[in-house]
Amino acid sequence: MPTPRISFEFFPPKDIAGAFRLSDTVRDLAPLDPTFVSVTYGAGGTTRELTHDAVTTIHNRYGLNVAAHLTCVDASRAETLEIAQSYAEAGITEIVALRGDPPKGQGGFAPHPEGFANSVELIEALAATGKFNLRVGAYPDPHPEAGSDTADVDWLKRKIDAGAASAITQFFFEADTFFRFRDKCEKAGIDAPIIPGILPIENWGGVKKFATNCGAKVPGWLDDAFDKALRDGREDLLSVAVAAELCSDLIDGGVENLHFYTLNKPHLTRDVAHALGVTPRVALQKVA
Ligand code: FAD
Repeated sequence: MPTPRISFEFFPPKDIAGAFRLSDTVRDLAPLDPTFVSVTYGAGGTTRELTHDAVTTIHNRYGLNVAAHLTCVDASRAETLEIAQSYAEAGITEIVALRGDPPKGQGGFAPHPEGFANSVELIEALAATGKFNLRVGAYPDPHPEAGSDTADVDWLKRKIDAGAASAITQFFFEADTFFRFRDKCEKAGIDAPIIPGILPIENWGGVKKFATNCGAKVPGWLDDAFDKALRDGREDLLSVAVAAELCSDLIDGGVENLHFYTLNKPHLTRDVAHALGVTPRVALQKVA
């Protein structure tokens, strides 16, 4: 099996303990030589400064290629483009451009009166700056707001045509879900790379709730397996086995890049990466 190229998603810390946890996570995973890492932007645009600080610190301290997530939520066009400009000035050349979700309890997405109405408008404006490699979200299981069977593919095509260079998917649980989506994208003329998003499962109860909210279908066999693993205290072992199996099925189907949702906890992602043959670059240099 070919060794995949991997990348990681982190979220910005909210307090000192979180800052240490992020720092430990980046330190543990950086030696796996990710093609890029990304830092999320809190729902409702709640982490504007924290995301900026985390992005620039990881970039400066570890020399990693960092993609800053940026959403349209609760900001005017001018404010959003100002954030992007501050990234360009800090040497950040990658942005994950998203419409974003509103803050909890606010109902559906409502554009800021002077803001971008949707992700396509944001991508067009960022592409016009000529300063960024733009990545966008994609949805192998239907996004909760998809208006029809083809809506997610049609909309992804619009995002790519607007200037996005690649897409990262929402997490999903079965390789066929990704392959069906990839086939539909190919048929629709999307030739940009679509990178599967992989969520190593840290807490099955929490993941199931999150999956329901974001539209990822939970297979019955996985629920049964976690019921048993939880009873036996083997949740982590099952998580690594399930994620490694999903990744190797994807690689067998031609996937070359995998993006891991680390949740700022390095151990499961690291174990899955090792199982796929991705080994620490630093350790190898020390041996040589
Ligand atoms: P879009 O792709 O714009 O929309 C999602 C779907 O809704 C489309 O596929 C389409 O079916 C439908 N749709 C939306 N608008 C229209 C329209 N105008 N016309 C027709 N159909 C439409 N959220 C955060 O708040 N912060 C983050 O950092 C963050 N990071 C993410 C990273 C990745 C890789 C992914 C996959 C998601 C992330 N999210 C994040 C969640 C994301 O904000 C939500 O899923 C949000 O609801 C959709 O954002 P989007 O840009 O992917 O949406």
